[in-house]
Amino acid sequence: MANQKPKVDGVFRTRSLGIAASGVQDQYSDGKAAQVWNLYIGGKKRTGEYKENMVKLLKEHDVQNVLDAACGTGVDSVMLLEAGFTVKSVDASDKMLKYAYKLRWQRHKNNPVYDDWEIGEGDWLDLENCEDTIVHPEHGYDAVLCIGNSFAHLPDFAGDNSLQKLAISNFHKMLKPGGILIIDHRNYDHIIKHGALPNCSSKLYYQGDRIHKIKTSVLTVDTQATMVTLDYEIDITGIPFGKDQSMREKPDGRIIPVSNFRLSYYPHRLANFTAMLDEQFGEGAEHQILSDFQADPPVDYIPSYYVHVLKKQ
Ligand code: SAH
Repeated sequence: MANQKPKVDGVFRTRSLGIAASGVQDQYSDGKAAQVWNLYIGGKKRTGEYKENMVKLLKEHDVQNVLDAACGTGVDSVMLLEAGFTVKSVDASDKMLKYAYKLRWQRHKNNPVYDDWEIGEGDWLDLENCEDTIVHPEHGYDAVLCIGNSFAHLPDFAGDNSLQKLAISNFHKMLKPGGILIIDHRNYDHIIKHGALPNCSSKLYYQGDRIHKIKTSVLTVDTQATMVTLDYEIDITGIPFGKDQSMREKPDGRIIPVSNFRLSYYPHRLANFTAMLDEQFGEGAEHQILSDFQADPPVDYIPSYYVHVLKKQ
């Protein structure tokens, strides 16, 4: 027991826990994040530079069929469907999926690709048994995506990264030989060291001009950073929003209404996460690490996100 790492969940629970597919904690179960997600990520702005980078990456690897394993509200899946990829989408949160289903419904009348878009509830810990609305391709996917800092939602209950390893090996199983996993995480090394998100935070992922504030808390247990909590405040000026709002003052003195949501993450350090991925993909597997999608960033560049691309042998 002496070397056992502290357990995140043994310290405190940050919110009421819903029950999602296969019993995974659903941090999105109160629907608060889902409701303002589009404002947070910036809707169509997300599909600018970010789309260019992602599509380029997928094309470089001859990808056609994709599993979006953390589709959330469906924003990336739609982006890729419209770029001509075949996409299947899963997520553990019905509150987030609700928006993906709605998008499919709204768009299918004008574009037949939406009729073929399979969406279902699914958990990375049991991917082979997603809702029966998802039929996995017989020979595996060309690409599995777990992006938008999603993977860091998976906690480390046992203190040995066993859940994370299981999820990564499930992603690996879903791929055809030669297929790629694209998985990302925030720059937790920086967050742990400075107690805040990187200053030069790239706007690549989250383009919303309605982010009022993201408050960062780092929980350290016995010298180890075990959980990062981000409290998001989204400016909802002009949006009828019901009761869930607080008032905040902007630097120019204006008072604005904000909607809050809180998400907690397991803070993956780059070195440890890289080793964990390499272990699951096997010795010699190709593994590229991009800094906010750049293969060769300037020396003093501080990425907001690391994007890992691994090829199944
Ligand atoms: N990729 C989307 C969503 C990011 S939010 C975007 O960038 O907008 C993170 C998503 O991961 C949430 O929708 C959450 O429900 C999902 N998630 C967290 N744990 C999961 C798990 N174990 N299995 C499947 N999805 C999970």
